[in-house]
Amino acid sequence: MLGASILMAMALNVPEIVIHEKLPPYPEANRVFKDVTVQLDLSKAKSISFDFTCGNLRPFRGFTLYFKCGSQWIQHDVMPEKLSGSVENFRFPLEEFGVDKLSGANSITNVTAVRFAGTRYTAEETLADVVVKNFEITETPLPKRRVSSPIPVEPLPAKAGERRLAWCHRAWGRDREPGKSTWDEQIDELKRAGFTDILPNMSWAGRAYYKSEVYPEDPTVAKYGDQLELCKAACRKHGMKMHVWKCCWNMGGGLRAPLPEYREKLAREGRLQFDVSDVKTGVPHLNWLCPTHPDNIREETAAMVELAKKGVDGIHFDYIRYNGGGSCICPRCRRLFEERIGHAVPNWPTAVSSVPELKAAWTKFRCDTISSFVKGVVEIVRRDCPNVEISAAVLASSERAKYTVGQDWGNWAKSGWLDFVCTMGYAPWYSLFRESRVGVVLQEKNPVTVYPGIGLSVWPKSDGRNAVRLREQILAIREMGFKGFCLFEWTAEAESNLGIFAGPVE
Ligand SMILES: [Zn+2]
Repeated sequence: MLGASILMAMALNVPEIVIHEKLPPYPEANRVFKDVTVQLDLSKAKSISFDFTCGNLRPFRGFTLYFKCGSQWIQHDVMPEKLSGSVENFRFPLEEFGVDKLSGANSITNVTAVRFAGTRYTAEETLADVVVKNFEITETPLPKRRVSSPIPVEPLPAKAGERRLAWCHRAWGRDREPGKSTWDEQIDELKRAGFTDILPNMSWAGRAYYKSEVYPEDPTVAKYGDQLELCKAACRKHGMKMHVWKCCWNMGGGLRAPLPEYREKLAREGRLQFDVSDVKTGVPHLNWLCPTHPDNIREETAAMVELAKKGVDGIHFDYIRYNGGGSCICPRCRRLFEERIGHAVPNWPTAVSSVPELKAAWTKFRCDTISSFVKGVVEIVRRDCPNVEISAAVLASSERAKYTVGQDWGNWAKSGWLDFVCTMGYAPWYSLFRESRVGVVLQEKNPVTVYPGIGLSVWPKSDGRNAVRLREQILAIREMGFKGFCLFEWTAEAESNLGIFAGPVE
């Protein structure tokens, strides 16, 4: 316990920070903030604490507290765990604000402003309602945080009819390397823990972990066998559904990066995405295929259709979007966009992100480019494989995803192209997960089944609370009326947490 006698907190002369203002729709504002003027010397402070309240957490990705030291800002993320309307006390070591990055005459002896900012997660017009007050410091350091061993939790009660899906980013399953355990063993484990569907990542742009007539086979296939067939056989045996997860456009990086000669060939043929950050070098840096190149569209469509015809239960689109906001500005995308709007764009590519009417048309062009690919795949798969489910991994806010990555999945839902989506809102913080990452799904009301993703494998490992979080988030998803969830992802850590699923039937 942190006794008051150890901490000796002292009030810090910072006025109450109140943010109470209308948030316009997303593209007009990505964040909201308020500054207060102060004159502080933090040189004796070892930690900073304050009380935080937010009346409505749903619009927010998270918050940041800043101190202006001379001309430089230092900062700390503020991620609430308590629900909207609660008062939550935060206490951070001063060193975590990046004090060591202060340069020149900028110093914590001369803090002239305090800023509190909230970053947007959703796109709707709404009210920001935040109060930050009762700033205090301690002059004694906080006890060092230690890595905790996992906190055990009560098994989750089972729920009849719940769909429990798990993504798996490796074609061979939960282990870092192939060959350690079989799909048969792994599917058996998942089935006994009540999982119903596995979504193994068996395909990237230009790479297959199965016998393919479209893409070269990864060397894993020769050494360890056709992973799709092995996983499918295990799913049939144990009664699990299998949806093959394909990374579209994205060729992967690191160990999965494309061979240099293959990548160079694609670059020569104008098949790689060109990002605004590549303008200076003239060389595309992304390992992503351009979604307007006819050969890319043909191959990616053929790969999805090939997967659907392999006797699986479903196919799962991922990276079904642009990498970010800066691509693709290749000459072909430019020409197609100019043809669509009927005139040349001067000051390319800056104009499409700065001139309002061009910006709107560019957003629509990017959305339509991705949507047209989805539609093409869906039409063939619905016709040729009517029993195969079609799903996608999507950004949780469909309204925002249109602007950021050209992913108009709300439109795909309205068009009936998908059987379900799994949203990728992986916050570990309870309130932000519940109210923002999952809350936005309820708010946007897209007409498609949603299984919210749960980000176990991207949460911090050091506090021992991941089993607690997993249980809390599944219970929240149930309370909010969803019919299941999708675990990100099936790993050794997930295996070590399977015990929480062994609860009695309700
Ligand atoms: Zn392009």
